[in-house]
Amino acid sequence: CAKRDGPGSLRLFDRTLLEEAERRWQIERALRLAVATSRIEVHYQPIVRLADRRVLALEALARWTDPQLGPISPAIFIPIAEESSLINQIGKAVLMQACCDAAAWDGALAGACVSVNLSPAQFRSEIATVVEQALVISGLDPSRLILEITETVLMQDSGTTLQTLNQLSEKGVGLAIDDFGAGYTSLAYLKKFPVHKIKLDRSFVSDLEDSEDSRLIVEAMIRLAHVLGLQTVAEGVETEAQLAFLERLGCDEVQGYLLGRPGPLDRILAARLRAAANDLARSPVAPPVR
Ligand code: C2E
Ligand code: MG
Ligand code: MG
Ligand code: MG
Repeated sequence: CAKRDGPGSLRLFDRTLLEEAERRWQIERALRLAVATSRIEVHYQPIVRLADRRVLALEALARWTDPQLGPISPAIFIPIAEESSLINQIGKAVLMQACCDAAAWDGALAGACVSVNLSPAQFRSEIATVVEQALVISGLDPSRLILEITETVLMQDSGTTLQTLNQLSEKGVGLAIDDFGAGYTSLAYLKKFPVHKIKLDRSFVSDLEDSEDSRLIVEAMIRLAHVLGLQTVAEGVETEAQLAFLERLGCDEVQGYLLGRPGPLDRILAARLRAAANDLARSPVAPPVR
């Protein structure tokens, strides 16, 4: 460890890099084992329609807790999986679990869609076949599956990507652009691909309250989406004030901690049932007929 400035600070820098590389390698090794032993779990977060507060879909989010390393965020392990090709197995497992869960959920969630994240790397393998298999095995109606892809997938624009997305869309599968506005999607791309929804990146939502510019940008993006016949979902909604702005700006759907945090399916189901019971209790009761 460094005692002084000068050469010492270089040693400190080297050591940090080394520690980072070691940590990464440790995570990759543990992840490989977790994938091999089916220890990646799926949590769900509600996506709610603003007009009537109905849960239209649940987004499937990968979760992993290593016995030694503890819980590790997908923001950390998904990029590592993408670099080590583990992403294909993880993606397949999440998709399968999500389709099977969605095919079975009923009660307060009956008919709701499931929204599954796909990594750009998955488009370089047989993604259409994998989706087809998940639909057949689960028995899920294709119209209840939404695939979330990032702008990167559209930008890597090979003829095969377009062909694959068209094939999935023709089957009835929905397509959403995740983290929209954070990357560089040109508007032309949105028309070229069979996209159904755009999910406005959380960074726009978190700026809504303080910045008139952000409000104008969000409003313009929502208008543009509607002109192109696309639905809009706002990500990362945390406050009532943000919700009110989004409602005023004409956003269709919202997702975020305010509406419900991601959790295991049984917890989400229980929360929806409680919400339905509360609605019932609040609704006016007809007087008994005599
Ligand atoms: P994403 O697809 O944009 O998912 C939304 C992320 O925002 C989730 O983080 C969710 O927990 C978080 N979030 C939701 N509401 C709020 C809010 O109100 N405030 C804040 N601060 N955050 C909120 P999570 O679960 O940590 O996932 C991070 C990213 O990892 C995802 O971003 C997605 O890109 C990726 N990911 C997760 N699961 C999978 C998967 O199965 N496959 C692939 N390819 N990527 C995945
Ligand atoms: Mg997503
Ligand atoms: Mg997102
Ligand atoms: Mg995001």
